Amino acid sequence: MITNVMTTKKIRSVFNVKSKTFFTPHLIRVVFNIDDAQAELLAHVQSGSNNKIFIPSAENGEPLIRTYTNRKIDLIKRELTIDFVSHGDNGPASAWASKAKIGDSLEIGMKESSKPLVPEVDFYLFVGDATALPVICAIVEQLPSYVTAKVLLEVHGKEDELILCSAADLTVKWLYNSSPENGSMLADITRQIEFPSGISKKYVFIAAEYHTVHDLRDYFKKILEWDSHGLYACSYWRSGQAES
Ligand SMILES: Cc1cc2nc3c(=O)[nH]c(=O)nc-3n(C[C@H](O)[C@H](O)[C@H](O)COP(=O)(O)OP(=O)(O)OC[C@H]3O[C@@H](n4cnc5c(N)ncnc54)[C@H](O)[C@@H]3O)c2cc1C
Repeated sequence: MITNVMTTKKIRSVFNVKSKTFFTPHLIRVVFNIDDAQAELLAHVQSGSNNKIFIPSAENGEPLIRTYTNRKIDLIKRELTIDFVSHGDNGPASAWASKAKIGDSLEIGMKESSKPLVPEVDFYLFVGDATALPVICAIVEQLPSYVTAKVLLEVHGKEDELILCSAADLTVKWLYNSSPENGSMLADITRQIEFPSGISKKYVFIAAEYHTVHDLRDYFKKILEWDSHGLYACSYWRSGQAES
């Protein structure tokens, strides 16, 4: 018997910083060069997919591993962009980004995938804090014009808002929170959101701090009895805890 096994290629390579800017006061945009060999490796990696960054550690030589989003992979410009929330020097990833200089190197791992980041539906709700800005921006950029999406985003302050580009019919609401480690209004405000009636296929995407995600996962599953295929709820960080 012949079985058709789908293989997902894992990629791990060292990238050099091409530019670094404060995209907003609390979001550091690091653009890495993609060389010829890396361009071949990244040919089937999607913008908006996850990666693992390997931050050199002075302690025992073992790198510290953190999860980020490939905000944009542009094989024409030969650029890989990662947006880092600047939350201080208490985390090695945030500290690395704040100190990064042109020419610095960072090892990054990722996987090939042709699977769409979200399924095709008529209506989307995206809920996220600053750590989810990169993935939500990347996803809405890929939505077609005939779908509707509501986006609820929490950032530090008004000056941290971004313009989201999308062909879809998009409504964006911003919340401000200058200390997300002390709690968030995202879950409470999400509960007030009304879903349009008469829509058969809908999808909810939630990515934020652990407590918000836990709360909203319960709300959608237990209170609204939401179809589990129409829900993605992923904890992107946990207040008071380093990523392990
Ligand atoms: C699939 C996925 C994709 C992600 N994509 C991105 C991305 O594109 N950009 C991005 O910035 N983050 C992203 N994150 C979140 C990121 O991995 C975490 O914020 C991570 O903890 C940062 O690592 P660190 O070394 O800076 O801090 P850690 O060493 O993990 O934590 C140190 C301390 O900092 C606190 N902390 C961590 N993150 C924050 C924060 N955002 N605000 C306030 N305090 C914080 C922790 O609670 C802890 O007390 C993603 C997470 C996942 C799971």
